[in-house]
Amino acid sequence: MSALLEEATRIAAQFDYPPEQVQRAVKEYIREIDEGLSEEGATLSQIPTFVTSVPNGTEKGLYLAVDLGGTNFRVCSIDLHGNNTFSLTQAKIMIPRELMTSGSSKELFLFLARQIESFLRIHHNEHFEAHLRRMVEAKEEDLFDLGFTFSFPVRQLGINKGTLIRWTKGFDIPDAVGQDVCALLQDAIDELNLPVRVAALVNDTVGTLMARSYTSPGETGTFLGAIFGTGTNGAYVEKLDRVTKMGNIEHSDYDKSTGEMIINAEWGSFDNHLSVLPNTKYDQQLDTDSINPGIQMFEKRVSGMFLGEILRLALLDLHESLGLFKSSTSSNAFVPKSSQIYRQWGIDTSLLSLVEADKTKNFEQIKSALKDHLKIEHASDDDAKSVQIVAHAIAKRAARLGAVAISAILISTGKLQTDDVVDIGVDGSLVEYHPSFSSLLREALREVPEVGAAGDKKIRIGISKDGSGVGAALIALVASKEGTQRPVS
Ligand code: ADP
Ligand code: MG
Repeated sequence: MSALLEEATRIAAQFDYPPEQVQRAVKEYIREIDEGLSEEGATLSQIPTFVTSVPNGTEKGLYLAVDLGGTNFRVCSIDLHGNNTFSLTQAKIMIPRELMTSGSSKELFLFLARQIESFLRIHHNEHFEAHLRRMVEAKEEDLFDLGFTFSFPVRQLGINKGTLIRWTKGFDIPDAVGQDVCALLQDAIDELNLPVRVAALVNDTVGTLMARSYTSPGETGTFLGAIFGTGTNGAYVEKLDRVTKMGNIEHSDYDKSTGEMIINAEWGSFDNHLSVLPNTKYDQQLDTDSINPGIQMFEKRVSGMFLGEILRLALLDLHESLGLFKSSTSSNAFVPKSSQIYRQWGIDTSLLSLVEADKTKNFEQIKSALKDHLKIEHASDDDAKSVQIVAHAIAKRAARLGAVAISAILISTGKLQTDDVVDIGVDGSLVEYHPSFSSLLREALREVPEVGAAGDKKIRIGISKDGSGVGAALIALVASKEGTQRPVS
C-alpha cells in the first residue's frame, strides 16, 4: 500500500465507531429518553405532540396542508383515497422579503390566508363556492381541515396550539413572538371568510411518521419516523403513562383514549455534553467554527448539513500535511487557491454519495467529481481511492450513530418484544440517495445485542415522502376526529 493510502486509512480509522461504543451510546440514549420524558429542559427534548394515534391507510377525505418553512410557502390539498394512496395538488409561493421583517404579524398571516384563498379558488372552486353559499349557516363539518407545518421553534400546547419562541431563517416580526401561531393563521383566514379550520400544528418529523403510516403496506401502524436530510430528527409512538412530565406542563385538553402519544425526540441534541459521541479533531474544528458551538452535537455528526464539511476538513488535512492531491512527479499541488476545498461548507454531502457509488476500476466518477466540484485536475488513482476511504468512513459513522438513536428507542419502548412487525419511515436526501447509508445503519442495528438478527427481521424500513403534505393532512384528520376546537386568540 502506498504511503498516501496508509495515511488515508489512518484518518478513516478515526471515524471508527465499534460495537462497544455503539452499545455504550445506546445506554446513554435510553437514559436521556427517561430524563426527557420526566422533565422539561433535558438534553433530549422529547416533546409531546398531542397526536395520539397513527393512520392505518384506510383514512379518507379531502384535507388542506400549508408549510411555512423558510423561503417558500406551500399550500396543498390532499385527497386520501382510503387504500394507502392519495393524490396531492400543490402551489409554492415565494414569500416577499418585506413581509419576513415587517412590523406586524397580521400582514404576514393575511398574505398566507390570501394564498390559501386563491389556491381554493383555482383548485377547489366548486367546493369553495358551495361552502361560501352555506356560510350563513356554516356547520363545523363544512369546513376544510388544515394541517399547518410551521418550521420555527414553537412551544406546543395542544394539537392546534403553539406559541412562537423565536424567529429564525431571516424572519423577524417581533409582535408574533409568544403568540399562538395557529390562532394568528385562523384569525387571518376568518377575516377573509374562508371555510377553513386550522386543525393541527405539525412538526415535519411527525408528518414523516404519519405519512409512512398511511402509505405503508397493510394496516400495521408505523412506530417511528426519522429524518436524515439537512438536519436529523426522530418521532415515535410512546405510551402516555411514560410521559411523566405531562402533569407539569401547561397544555390544553387532548384525547387520552389510545393511551399513546407521538413524541418528537429532537434527537439532534442527543449527548450535547459529549459523554459518548465520537469527537475527532475534525468534529471539534467544525463545531468551533459553527454558529452554535456545543449545540446539536449529534446532528453535527450525522446530517447532510455537516458530513460534507467533515469530509472537507479531513481531506484538507490529508492534502496539507500528508500528500493528497500532490503529483508524484512534481511537488506542486493540483489544487488551485480558488478551490472549494479551502472554503467553509465548500463540500456538499452529495459528494459523499457520488464517491461511494463509484465502482469503476480507475475511479473515473470520483476523478470527474473532484474536477467539477473542487477544481482538482489530474487526481491519481491513489488520490481518488483515499477520498473514497475517508468519505465512506464518515458516512458509516453517521449511519451507526443513526442506529444508536433508533435501537435505543426500540429497546426503551420494548417494541421488539411486543410486536411482530415494527415499521419505520425515513425521509431525507442522505438516507434516500447515499448508496450505503441504510445498509450500514441496519448492520449496526443487528450488532446491538437487544436487537440482533431476530429483531432486525421484524424491522421494516421504508422511505416516507412528503411529510409536510400528506403527513400534515393526516394530522389534521386525526385532530378533526378528536373534535378539536377552532383556535381562538
Ligand atoms: P430538507 O432537509 O431541507 O428537507 P433534503 O432531505 O433534500 O432537504 O436534505 C438536504 C441535505 O441533504 C443537504 O444537506 C444536502 O447536502 C444533502 N444531500 C443532497 N443530495 C444528497 C445526496 N445525493 N446524497 C447525500 N446527501 C445529499
Ligand atoms: Mg425534508
